[in-house]
Amino acid sequence: MTSNDVFTQMGVSELIAPQLRNAARAARAGDTGSAMTHAWLFSGPPGSGRSVAAVAFAAALECSNPEVVGCGQCEQCRAVRNGTHGDVVHIVPQELSIAVATMRRDVIEPAATRPTVASWRVVILDNADRLTDGAANALLKTVEEPPKHTVILLCAPSTDPQDVMPTLVSRSRHVYVPQPNTKEVARLLMQSDDVSEEIATLAAASTSNHVGRARRLVRDPDMQRSRARTLTLAEDVFRGDKAFRNVTAMVKEITKVAEQGLAEASEAEVEKLRTALGMGASGRGAQKALRGSAGQIRELEDKHKKRRTRAVRDALDLALVDLAGLYRDALIKAVDSNVELMHPDFQQLSEGLCQRVSPQGLSACIEAIMKAREHLGMNVRPETALDAMVGRIRLACGVSE
Ligand SMILES: [Zn+2]
Repeated sequence: MTSNDVFTQMGVSELIAPQLRNAARAARAGDTGSAMTHAWLFSGPPGSGRSVAAVAFAAALECSNPEVVGCGQCEQCRAVRNGTHGDVVHIVPQELSIAVATMRRDVIEPAATRPTVASWRVVILDNADRLTDGAANALLKTVEEPPKHTVILLCAPSTDPQDVMPTLVSRSRHVYVPQPNTKEVARLLMQSDDVSEEIATLAAASTSNHVGRARRLVRDPDMQRSRARTLTLAEDVFRGDKAFRNVTAMVKEITKVAEQGLAEASEAEVEKLRTALGMGASGRGAQKALRGSAGQIRELEDKHKKRRTRAVRDALDLALVDLAGLYRDALIKAVDSNVELMHPDFQQLSEGLCQRVSPQGLSACIEAIMKAREHLGMNVRPETALDAMVGRIRLACGVSE
């Protein structure tokens, strides 16, 4: 048993860690026969930590510790964990779909180059379910005949043909990453963020054990405030038009936070493209290049706009899932079930709801929220979708004008 290697440190489930340790050891021994292979598919629901497992595996492959394969401490391991390793490319697509051109530039080209400092060129592709058919086909060639020193790690929600093209699945080794439970996520947070068990458990429960979101909730006061504001909506619906005013504020705030999160990365990308195109340089050649490149800059800005829209929509959707969880908590109280609450710190509010609103009313509230999520998915303006939702919730709660 390896007690404290990079897999343990990063909280990778012991259900899959042994297989990855074996593969990394075989890779170091130069045995790419059975334990090790060039293409892997990590599948698991969002928040299961599938890309964390892929990063830990990449670290183990690049590790230079002569004793422990994947020590988590050496320079190589640390660089992979920090996302600064020169031979590891980690792509996290933000758009709804990954096009062929993006695929070629970000995945296939880097995959074809030899590693420079460590033993392997590792390409990690998150959200591989967003590949267009064309992009998946383009990738297939690399997966079928990978360069000798290249390892491709795909991450996707499942191996379902709807998520990943079957030919891609059949040519990769599949690792199913199980969804961790509340206790496991809490333990991870206590380790990584040095928080109390109570705070860690609360963060895990209220994000349905989504590792990344739970971590953000622990770290980010903005997110804590935003969650509290969302859940308090259930109280606001009883107070005149307060809920209507608050959804407007809520949409504004969520939009701001989502945009801030993306702005820096987007600016950096535009800057990089400008440099690559020779903009900012002077001379006749540069002037000529400049004229042709305006279109490319516009294209990139267009891409960023789509990314922003998606980020805002995702953030709003998660807020609505939070709110639905509160009504679910109230329903659980109503039937006196022993199921764990999603928002134990808002227990007073869910108890109050349970006393004020009938179980049918509570179900209708949840339906109203699901309807709003549907509307957001159909690109209805967020303010409009949430206003309609508040109206329906008020009706379900028997609030008269
Ligand atoms: Zn190491």
